[in-house]
Parts: sequence; structure tokens; C-alpha cells
Amino acid sequence: MGESVPLFNMNEWPTNLAMTSLSAVKGGSLEKMCLIKEEGDERVYIVRAPTLLELQGNCDQCARQHQKTNTRCSMWLKRPTYATAEGELYDPSTKKIIYGWRLAEVETRRHSRIVKETYVRE
Ligand SMILES: [Zn+2]
Repeated sequence: MGESVPLFNMNEWPTNLAMTSLSAVKGGSLEKMCLIKEEGDERVYIVRAPTLLELQGNCDQCARQHQKTNTRCSMWLKRPTYATAEGELYDPSTKKIIYGWRLAEVETRRHSRIVKETYVRE
């Protein structure tokens, strides 16, 4: 898979702690996505499903769980989320859809909330 240096041991399945930043939010499901590898026409994210409470509250700006101090988050603002188009990836800083990438591969592990998703350039 090339020569890039991953941010953590790619042989170990990532935990919540690997969600060091929020790179994208998936529309509708409000899954949180952290970019862990970008190489050529490929991007690999670790993806964490929100809790039911986070989904109902529209948490859309927090990398791991909802942060009660995150005043930018729609859950804090008690507002509808910006990430409304089902399955589209949103940039949490601009709140705009990230175009040009399509989902190519999903890796899961039993008993883990975290999945890995690989996107390729369209
Ligand atoms: Zn939040």
C-alpha cells in the first residue's frame, strides 16, 4: 500500500482514541470521520457511529463523543444539523459537501463502533 507513514499502527484496530480530529461528517447518519491516510487517489477514514443521543441531538462538530463545551456543535446550539444529504460527506468547518470521492471499501471488526472506509477519487 505505498510508503506513507500512518498515524497509528494500521495492524491494530483503531479505538475512539484514534479519532484525533473531525475531517468529515456523513449526512443523515451523522457518522464522524477522521482521515488517517491520504495517498494519491485514495483516502482512508476511520468512522465512528454516533450514539442514539448524539444522533437525536444533531451532534455534528465533535470528533469522539459530543463535547458539552463545543459551542459550534448543532447539539449545543439545539439546531438542525447541516449534514442532511444522506450518505454525502460534509466538511465540518465549511459545512459544505465534499465532492469528488466515492466509497470503495468498508472494513469492520466485530464488537467495534469504529469502521474503516476507503474512498477513491471519482
Ligand atoms: Zn457534538
